[in-house]
Amino acid sequence: MRDEMMIIAVASGKGGTGKTTVAVNLALSLSNVQLMDCDVEEPNSHIFINPVIEEMKPAYTLVPTVNYERCDYCGKCAAACEYNALVVVPQKEVMVFPELCHGCGLCSMVCPQDAIREEPREIGVIKTGKSSDGNIDLVYGVLNIGEIMATPLIDQVKEELNPEKPVIIDVPPGTACPVIAAVQGSDYCMLVTEPTPFGLYDLRLAVEVLRVLKIPFGVVINKAGIGDRKVYEYCEKEGIQILLEIPYDKQIARCYSEGVPFVKAMPEWRERFAGIIGII
Ligand code: SF4
Ligand code: SF4
Repeated sequence: MRDEMMIIAVASGKGGTGKTTVAVNLALSLSNVQLMDCDVEEPNSHIFINPVIEEMKPAYTLVPTVNYERCDYCGKCAAACEYNALVVVPQKEVMVFPELCHGCGLCSMVCPQDAIREEPREIGVIKTGKSSDGNIDLVYGVLNIGEIMATPLIDQVKEELNPEKPVIIDVPPGTACPVIAAVQGSDYCMLVTEPTPFGLYDLRLAVEVLRVLKIPFGVVINKAGIGDRKVYEYCEKEGIQILLEIPYDKQIARCYSEGVPFVKAMPEWRERFAGIIGII
């Protein structure tokens, strides 16, 4: 490992590959780490860490409000908004769709009448706490139900990043904007996949994203033993390092269903997870 205070993202091209399992077990195999769960639509790390919560704070994004004493319905704000979050009804109203607004502030900048003010809108909550043994600082965001603006919440979770500790980031699944927000700034990314055709398809997409972002990465194969060899062949052809294989195993599956990180029940895995740090 290049630096003990490394930021390691744990991502996967699709949900259900065992990404959180890897992030949590890795955190438990290292000492004095910070685990950031940026999978804000479905944060699960806390279920396995069972932290003592020390702080909860609301997270906000900014949305425009219009002062009708100034507005002349010129339409410049709506024309400027890339996200179609504003519709101007001439001489009547400027309709704002908060759930579409990315809080970029452009509308208020382009308004010639200085009629737009930005106001905070709550989108979720950020919780911080510690594992009962004090070894893991956990930070996680919880997006409000029905809320679609994951990226601003992820950005705010990442503001809690502690540069004094190694950091593990549990990235949302997929390859869209929230993934990029979560993985951006990491020193390394572990891509978790399954050795199946679906696993390979999503792995390829995730690899493309990381190559564009220029973040070094390697692959963890979960449920090794099911499926076929295509993921292995792909990694070999692309020169991608396979960091660890986690077999499809009844005891591991049972641990998962009981909310127990499997390194606790099978301590020999601690060394294997910790060993990854030495080879990346
Ligand atoms: S740009 Fe300003 S003045 Fe024009 S419609 Fe929008 S809020 Fe009203
Ligand atoms: S802040 Fe940005 S995204 Fe939101 S309404 Fe204004 S221009 Fe659109």
